[in-house]
Amino acid sequence: MLLRNIKLWDGCSADYSDFDAIRILADGTLQRTTSDDRVGNEPSKDLAGAFVMPGLIDAHIHLCLDPEESDPFAHGKVPEPIQLKAMAARAKKMVEAGITSARDLGGGQWLELQIRDAILAGDLPGPRLICAGQPITSPGGHCHFWGGEAEDTAAAMAVIARQAEAGVDLIKVMATGGNITPGSKPMDAQFDGAVMQSIVTEANRLGYSVAAHCHGTDGIRHAAHAGVTTIEHCSWVGPNGWGKHFDPDLALEIAQAGIWISPTVNAGWGRHLSNENYLAAMQARYQTMKSSGCQFIASTDAGIPNVFHEDLPKALAVFKAVAAFSNLETLRSATSDCAKALGIEGVTGRIEDGLSADLLVLPASPLADLRALQHPAEIYARGALILSP
Ligand SMILES: [Zn+2]
Repeated sequence: MLLRNIKLWDGCSADYSDFDAIRILADGTLQRTTSDDRVGNEPSKDLAGAFVMPGLIDAHIHLCLDPEESDPFAHGKVPEPIQLKAMAARAKKMVEAGITSARDLGGGQWLELQIRDAILAGDLPGPRLICAGQPITSPGGHCHFWGGEAEDTAAAMAVIARQAEAGVDLIKVMATGGNITPGSKPMDAQFDGAVMQSIVTEANRLGYSVAAHCHGTDGIRHAAHAGVTTIEHCSWVGPNGWGKHFDPDLALEIAQAGIWISPTVNAGWGRHLSNENYLAAMQARYQTMKSSGCQFIASTDAGIPNVFHEDLPKALAVFKAVAAFSNLETLRSATSDCAKALGIEGVTGRIEDGLSADLLVLPASPLADLRALQHPAEIYARGALILSP
């Protein structure tokens, strides 16, 4: 199948490229080509100058969480068949919104792994999923109800072994407390530096990357020194509040270690944009991190209350505003850069020969206005057409 007469943004370059056609091969991979390169009676579609870019990647979701449920303990009580059905419906909405890959950073019953495999087998529509299973947490700590409690290094090793047995793709650790768990404080580190180091060393030994949930600055420091792959949230919380304990030296260390920051800016953060002082402080922090060399990936923490799984396209415009990024930087954070951070750059994230045909077809230019992402004309996931008007 030849999609011709397009303007192609490859997920990385500063502008549209000379290729004006994409061939989708039978195995779901793509080839960049030109409109006059039709072979024999190959089917082709004239997209009349539409803008084509790689499908979006959300680096932080929870497929098992219902955004309309505010009680974190409620999800585990839903009967498994009903839960699986709800998760399949969320996955379908995601891919129909143009999210063709996503990293699931935690659940309690590994149900998202079943959805992952069903999507990969072509039995369910949805994004390619990269799943962490049960996050390692302290006893009674953040999201302890998911079953990953560990009081020391030995217990943490047992949690990792259990995730490996279940067939996860990476390891998630709660380096600090969090918001949704009663009794857990976002500011507090949950593990000391030595335990964090053991977790990362063991995960890496087994071939896993590590995503670390980090609100408080102490936990960010432990995670950074241990060499995690991504720092989730990175909220710089301390005794004086959220964002008040930003440490520029630590930001430099994060950059030098090549650790990605995944700030989980969801569409709801749009409410902050009218608060000028708040916005200015936030933008200054992001720009300082950026000039230190920190790299960012797009993420929403979809599934937590009022954060819907399909809302990454809306969240990206808010992320851009909060961080004072360009459209190009923001788009890279949800495509090529995100794929690198997730270790799937050899599969997706760019429009490059041999990669998966994960494509958004947009009537307007996303490089000119990110709102174009909210109105795709067509979506292809692994070469299959998902949505057509
Ligand atoms: Zn999360």
